[in-house]
Amino acid sequence: MDITPAPTHATRRGNPDWFTGAVWQDPIVEAPAPARVRAARVGFEPGARTAWHTHPLGQTLHVVQGIGHVQAKGGPVRVIRAGDTVFIPPDEKHWHGASPTHGMVHIAIHEFDGEKHVTWMEHVTDAEYGVAPER
Ligand code: MN
Repeated sequence: MDITPAPTHATRRGNPDWFTGAVWQDPIVEAPAPARVRAARVGFEPGARTAWHTHPLGQTLHVVQGIGHVQAKGGPVRVIRAGDTVFIPPDEKHWHGASPTHGMVHIAIHEFDGEKHVTWMEHVTDAEYGVAPER
């Protein structure tokens, strides 16, 4: 058994190659192999979002604070709020982030397929982000 004290990991700012706006990441689960699950708390300031990306084994997002947007490629922009849980199937191209007016914090849970847990793609443009969400 291993207890990781809260101050062990500094908060990391999301890499601007993969995120638009200010995104703050705090790891929760980075267990060594053979475990492959990963979890992190991710905070998005208003307007901040991921780039388009996929996860080889899918991803679960659980919103703990605020109001966010999520979209699968070709689908509507959807609103997500504290208490909502989103499952993104394996290899579904998508993005997630805050709404333009509210920050959003989610717990992201996903698995390594052996060598990766995410494939990053192009940024979500302001035009794509600005599409009115379906409720
Ligand atoms: Mn994702």
